[in-house]
Amino acid sequence: MIGVLGGGQLGRMLALAAARLGFDVTVLEPEPDCPASRVCARTLTAPYDDPAALLEMARTCQVVTFEFENVPAPVVEQLQAHDALAAPGRLALATAQDRVTEKTFLRAHGLAVADFAPIATAEDVAAAMARLGPRALLKTRREGYDGKGQTWVEGPRDAEAAFARIGGRPAILEAAVPFVRELSVIAARGWGGEIACYPVGQNIHRDGVLRTTRAPAQVSAATAAQAEAIARTTLQALDYVGVIGVELFELEVGALLVNEFAPRVHNSGHWTLDGCEVDQFEQHVRAICGWPLGPTQPLAAVEMENLLGFEAEQWAKLAADPSARLWLYGKRTAREGRKMGHVNRLKPLG
Ligand code: AMP
Repeated sequence: MIGVLGGGQLGRMLALAAARLGFDVTVLEPEPDCPASRVCARTLTAPYDDPAALLEMARTCQVVTFEFENVPAPVVEQLQAHDALAAPGRLALATAQDRVTEKTFLRAHGLAVADFAPIATAEDVAAAMARLGPRALLKTRREGYDGKGQTWVEGPRDAEAAFARIGGRPAILEAAVPFVRELSVIAARGWGGEIACYPVGQNIHRDGVLRTTRAPAQVSAATAAQAEAIARTTLQALDYVGVIGVELFELEVGALLVNEFAPRVHNSGHWTLDGCEVDQFEQHVRAICGWPLGPTQPLAAVEMENLLGFEAEQWAKLAADPSARLWLYGKRTAREGRKMGHVNRLKPLG
């Protein structure tokens, strides 16, 4: 039995991959009737830090993992206090949960990140703009995703208003990165330290939300090698077990900066579901269960397109399109921008 904290689409696709290999999954998720609950063996509907639910997870699951990085980090300690195995561990979760901690950690391990400053007050924003401006991106330190909790600061005079726009919360101010492309690398590490990396994908965002991933990205061999080296360094530094998603900015000169990492399977790795023999979900299951890691070479070039909100209502048309492999997450209601499914389109490798 594998425990998964979080019952969204990532938990659902993890449960499907686990079932294929003969594992059962217990999902812990506060929302009833979540996407994962309808495909997994057992669901516990409770807050992530519910002591009784965590005890039950620890008692019944041989390993516990996460599809969502914002579970309170002490939850990992509670699980471990009950002798549960958690993968990835506390360091990865706690580091990913705070953008300042994350960038400081990455930099300390020799990885390049955007220039940044920690922010506690509007005055801090104004002061940091002198170094990071003329234009810089203000992000809440915690709990931001899909472009939420972020705002551009348009010069020092905008400092106070910008800080108010993100709710006056502890934040990070980042220099604007003049990237030419956004890339990501999905990689896995096992309990023995073995690592497997998928080819780099190119990501296209709109309004902070991922729209499209094209993989393998058309990058030079040097850039691909650099992306893989970044993933390896991150996995080793975190003593990580499982699949990680590392988001990168490619600069004009071919250099890469790390934007952030997600300590879980990642939306930009959904192309592997139809593009690889072993997809990122199976790879994660393999890694945390101590199985050999699977092959990561691409069998096809894939364009993955997210179906956001009411776009999923096109399912009948997409189902009739022989070039589209359709994945729907079984969410009961569509909302503007909500991830409802995705489509993978395959082409021969170029
Ligand atoms: P994040 O939540 O950090 O992944 O940011 C969401 C999106 O905002 C990224 O995918 C980029 O498109 C953009 N972005 C984030 N940080 C920066 C930055 N420092 N400079 C320019 N664009 C950024």
